[in-house]
Amino acid sequence: MELVAVESYNHPIDAYLAKGRLEVEGVPVFLANEHHVWMNWSYAQALGGMQLKVSPQHFTDAQKILKMHNQGEYEHLLNEIFPEIDTKNCPNCNANSYVSKFPLHRIFFTLVSLAISVVLLSKRTLHTCQQCNQKWKD
Ligand SMILES: [Zn+2]
Repeated sequence: MELVAVESYNHPIDAYLAKGRLEVEGVPVFLANEHHVWMNWSYAQALGGMQLKVSPQHFTDAQKILKMHNQGEYEHLLNEIFPEIDTKNCPNCNANSYVSKFPLHRIFFTLVSLAISVVLLSKRTLHTCQQCNQKWKD
């Protein structure tokens, strides 16, 4: 049976998380190029990344599940099972779908730290809510 690539990843951890989600949802998955990427990470781009492949009859379901996975739709289930896990929600609309960025000043501090051999730490990360566009740091 021919398998169809439903998604590809450059980072193995992302690929394993998506693979695990599909398997939990009952979709059989094959992870292609896995060992090539582990052996030589720079091959990931040339090979098209680690590819999640499914049978054609599972392709549509896999796309829907991965879309929900990428949007954080399953995070509330995790919070119901493990309520003690500290999750971050938007302080404005309480949505849990947001994007985190490495602030530019952290890059500057890192470069200055390297130049003067003194550690300058800035731990704050900038988050942007995908629902209301609110920005906050923590
Ligand atoms: Zn928000």
